[in-house]
Amino acid sequence: MCLQHEGDPSAKKKKSINRQGVQPPNWEEIPLPPDHVLSHLTDAHCHSTDLTHAPEVYDAVKLGGLASMATVVDDQDRTKALSSERGWCNSSHPEKGKGRDGKGVGVVACFGYHPWFTHLYTLSSPNSIPSKEDHYFSLFQPSSKHSDLLKSLIPYLPDPISFEPLLEKLRDDIRGSLNQGRLTMLGEVGLDGSARMRWPKKAKHLHPDYKDQHQHQDQNSGANVKSLVDDGKEGGHEQKEAEEEEEGEGEEEWKRLTPFKVPMSHQREILDEQMEIAIELGVNISFHSVSCAGPSLDALISMRDKHKMNFTNKINVDLHSAGGWSPEFWKQAEKNLLNLYASPSIFITSRSPSASSLIASISKERLLVESDSHDVRLSDRLVWSAAEWVSRCKGWKLEGRDTNPSDNDTSDGNIHTQNRVAEWTLCRGNDDSAEEEEEVDEHGDIVQKDVWTVRTLERNWARFMGLVDD
Ligand SMILES: [Zn+2]
Ligand SMILES: [Zn+2]
Repeated sequence: MCLQHEGDPSAKKKKSINRQGVQPPNWEEIPLPPDHVLSHLTDAHCHSTDLTHAPEVYDAVKLGGLASMATVVDDQDRTKALSSERGWCNSSHPEKGKGRDGKGVGVVACFGYHPWFTHLYTLSSPNSIPSKEDHYFSLFQPSSKHSDLLKSLIPYLPDPISFEPLLEKLRDDIRGSLNQGRLTMLGEVGLDGSARMRWPKKAKHLHPDYKDQHQHQDQNSGANVKSLVDDGKEGGHEQKEAEEEEEGEGEEEWKRLTPFKVPMSHQREILDEQMEIAIELGVNISFHSVSCAGPSLDALISMRDKHKMNFTNKINVDLHSAGGWSPEFWKQAEKNLLNLYASPSIFITSRSPSASSLIASISKERLLVESDSHDVRLSDRLVWSAAEWVSRCKGWKLEGRDTNPSDNDTSDGNIHTQNRVAEWTLCRGNDDSAEEEEEVDEHGDIVQKDVWTVRTLERNWARFMGLVDD
């Protein structure tokens, strides 16, 4: 997952941040609609393999699908295992269906390498891997004030990993998943202008906070280091450990960031190599973009210009959570990239003061929803909350909250209850329901018909994944 959310103290802060816009709902208390309504929605971006759950936990998810992202080396096989147990198969393998034994939530297999951990990878071939010192110094280019700090951390940092074999495996994993008929994407990949390398846990004794806490060290030397890393613990990103680390029994979680940022050029090379594979194999991309809207758009436009129709007509890109993108910038991006979608989340999107105007600015056909959660038990609630928020930002009707004319059809003799929402089937793009918003009245004026949120999000997801044509 991208962030630790449990007990998130910023939950209350979010409400005041969005005072001027349309506030997101309280996801922990929002009432859920009937199960069949949730089954029409897909979580376009989550990190379900961060935790291990029994199959029954996935069986209990009411959503129709989850796009389960991989971020680091070990995730790739976890994603493969989860999606082979409960994948979501396309129409060329109708006998396999979706979920476990054709039941329950279906998992979209997403393979890829997240920008937060790109410092672990070298672009050198496996035969010429640089030393740790050479790799981290040439990557971070520390200022003279940070040079000693980096030197002291080097023994605790992992050896650089050649990205070349990881790319080969990425291609094999995606191709293998496609050959099984499973819905497959590249993700999570992207760019992050604010991500900093985590302080290695094994070097925590060198961090001033740890020294303060344990009072093991001379206070003066602690203060000196502290002045160098003071801004290294409030980055807003509590990043997941990239490497396996053994936690001591009963040891509290210890997370701090270093001042070292991975340069955009290195992130971009790692991103481009992965996007090339997505285009080659024709799979969609789940794209992370935080604090670097401009470079992200540049990266996508370069792919569009290089690959033309193979990019714009064969694959779609989901800008997940749209981290900090302004409404104006989004509109520009949407015009430049006809295959760009965005999926707001309660956890991340709501942090931006302009979040509700951003959602309002996203075209009806380009909206998806996501949780970005590591805990699949929260997906129903988070995705429903995102849909509810979208409905208010866009002024759309919401199934389960607003009464659809078909809900009152009591021809089966049942008495209408508040929870009653008539079942529906996915609106295909080329039947008349696609044009349902426009109707002409007796004066020849266009009458705007209601837009229904879940139906719209469902059709968008199906179009995004190529399950319907339009
Ligand atoms: Zn994510
Ligand atoms: Zn992300």
